[in-house]
Amino acid sequence: MNIGQLLQMPIETLFVAFFNAADEKNGNFEIQSRYRITKFLPLPADSHKKTAQALTRKYGIDFVQINATTIAATVVNDKRISLDDFLNAIYEKIIVLLNKLPVNYPLDEEVALAMFLLRGSADFNRGLYALDLKNPTPRYVDNIFKLLLSSNNLIERLNLNFRELQPQFATGERERNTQIRINLKWFYENVITRYPNINKYKTDVLRVNIRNLGEVHAYHMFEERLIFYRQKILGRELTPNEINALRQDLEFREPIDVVPENKFSIRNQKIVAFARETFADVCVGCGDRYDIKDRSFLMPRNNRYYFEVNHVIAYANDSDAVDVLDNLVKLCPVCHRALAPHRAFPDLQRHIIENMLNSRPEVRRFVSSMMPNKYESPVDYVFDRLK
Ligand SMILES: [Zn+2]
Repeated sequence: MNIGQLLQMPIETLFVAFFNAADEKNGNFEIQSRYRITKFLPLPADSHKKTAQALTRKYGIDFVQINATTIAATVVNDKRISLDDFLNAIYEKIIVLLNKLPVNYPLDEEVALAMFLLRGSADFNRGLYALDLKNPTPRYVDNIFKLLLSSNNLIERLNLNFRELQPQFATGERERNTQIRINLKWFYENVITRYPNINKYKTDVLRVNIRNLGEVHAYHMFEERLIFYRQKILGRELTPNEINALRQDLEFREPIDVVPENKFSIRNQKIVAFARETFADVCVGCGDRYDIKDRSFLMPRNNRYYFEVNHVIAYANDSDAVDVLDNLVKLCPVCHRALAPHRAFPDLQRHIIENMLNSRPEVRRFVSSMMPNKYESPVDYVFDRLK
């Protein structure tokens, strides 16, 4: 199978590739599953072979046993691209397909399955199932977070442990990977029992430990931690002193205000909060013509200028399809107000829309993927949807 063929596969296959792809020694890519014997149960001799068959059935690509701990499906790197570019191409295809899923699609369960089952392991002491992020580039981590923000409630079951803030990392004595972890009981009840035969050994290990899975509960720190990670840690060289300061800062951080109303509006608020914190403080509508200090005001809370986070395709309460990060931009209060129907002249409105579409490649891509055939251009479509 080559890259083009992989990108034509169903969304579940793209999920599993996105979370488990690695470089293979001949310059190709491998979608890997790894596990070894635990102290809880003997590992049956045919376990890897059966898991390879079950993964092949589930995902429609050929998994084979590579060695004593690894099963993998190979994707031929016919385009000679880097792993990071490969992962990004998968992410972009996922985003297009996400918009077309049926409403009853088990998105959280499929993402959790693809994310944790192949390489994750149980931590019964903490009640978590953990996955190492092996080589987290800024773009890859960003794409993971954007994908998770598009899930339904999965993010509430997750917890992030980044290596840069572990004391052993600062002293250089032991470098551990950044981990994403999921509530173990939730994972067992919603994912493992739903797909018990994909990796029978891992399923059995959880079954014999059924009393040690802990309780189902929600974590409320994931977004804060990921925003913090993005802004202060990822891609920086930090000294031990800086790491200590960041650890303290994180501990004393106030959570972002998220007022629960209903499922979609909670998700919406989380995404908007993420955009507000991480997008550059530039009005994409008029930044080419005006200085932000002439269009907005400084907020004493954080000494940053006030912006409105705007849905490029207008947000509708009856649909969450436009409720994704790629549909959001930052506007100054003036541009934001100008976008109500008939409030400003159409020339200005269309200029702001054009600028929004040009602000990031993913915005134009997202709007184009949502646009019905009857429209000539994304500008017309967004203009029509103003409300
Ligand atoms: Zn503006």
